[in-house]
Amino acid sequence: MATLSLEGVTKVYDDAQGREVAVDDLSITVDDGEFACLVGPSGCGKSTTLRMIAGLEPVTEGTITLDGDPVQRLAPSERDVAMVFQNYALYPKMTGRQNMAYGLKHAGGVGREERRRTVEETAALLDITDVLDDRPAEMSGGQKQRVALGRAIVRDPTVFLLDEPLSNLDAKLRSEMRRELQRIHEDLGITTVYVTHDQKEAMTMADRLAVMDDGRLQQVDAPETAYRDPVNRFVGEFLGSPAMNTVTATVGGDGTLSVGGHPFASVAPDRVTGYDTVVAGVRPEDVVIADAGTGTFGATVIDAEYQGDTNFVFLDVADHQFAVRAPRTVRPDRDTTVGVQIPGADVYLFDPDTGAALHRSTD
Ligand code: ADP
Repeated sequence: MATLSLEGVTKVYDDAQGREVAVDDLSITVDDGEFACLVGPSGCGKSTTLRMIAGLEPVTEGTITLDGDPVQRLAPSERDVAMVFQNYALYPKMTGRQNMAYGLKHAGGVGREERRRTVEETAALLDITDVLDDRPAEMSGGQKQRVALGRAIVRDPTVFLLDEPLSNLDAKLRSEMRRELQRIHEDLGITTVYVTHDQKEAMTMADRLAVMDDGRLQQVDAPETAYRDPVNRFVGEFLGSPAMNTVTATVGGDGTLSVGGHPFASVAPDRVTGYDTVVAGVRPEDVVIADAGTGTFGATVIDAEYQGDTNFVFLDVADHQFAVRAPRTVRPDRDTTVGVQIPGADVYLFDPDTGAALHRSTD
């Protein structure tokens, strides 16, 4: 186990296609035993970051340390980290058992009998004992994924690196494997960095998530903190599904926000001091749909998706589509008008130029 630290880590690709800053001045510490998720849209630099930690990609600038010791000049095999890839990368001609033992065998120092015992114990932990003698082609996607995990676990690494490990599995298996990975993490307590573009996966699995955009780290926080208190508009919109609704609003002296000339919500005036306009963000679950003629303003129902337990209602708010997560009993018809109420305390506010969150000064 180990504390992993990245300090000012930058990766520049400079090739025939041009110069690309894939990771820009990234600093983050993953505590001993922590499960951290690197999350962000495709191309934001997550895999590059993971590959630099693993030693598969040289660092252009910055330092990577494990328990305080710089590792960025060490070869991957000298780093005591194990990586699991999206495509499993199993050897097709080897059985599950041979695939799992391979790394141990090549690292040396582990006798045949101990290798066998470690592989079998790990297989039991992962519930793949009965496919140990099968080749990858004979295994299901979930079993292949478990063998790939097992191959990493048997090495007893100090850091576990997982790059979108569940993305090739179907939705049901993915959610099963999520829980299983969490259980394994609780059992083994290995410092883990998990890369995913799926915010829901990151929200459900991470002790802390690190949100990246365009090579830059945006926010590192517990999932609930990042969701409830995003540092900027990007993080606010990235976390949550349906996504946070955002509109540009005009600020009145008493904290009234107007959209398209109509009142929208009222916020504490000290939150918007000095601003003529702000970007207002509202989460779908914070919008209240009321009877027509009540609430702060009226809006036309564009569509509704009944989900069983909830009802997603899409409203036209000053030419913006607003997603609402309504109780299942609220089922307005398409093209009708409903009243809308947005509690001021639930409105997120962002600087219209920089996107930075305007925090409540009374917090
Ligand atoms: P993510 O994992 O978040 O999808 P990546 O780390 O794979 O993002 O990529 C980050 C950026 O670096 C992207 O713009 C990508 O095109 C670029 N990139 C990744 N690998 C290379 C490479 N080997 N050569 C040049 N550019 C690369």
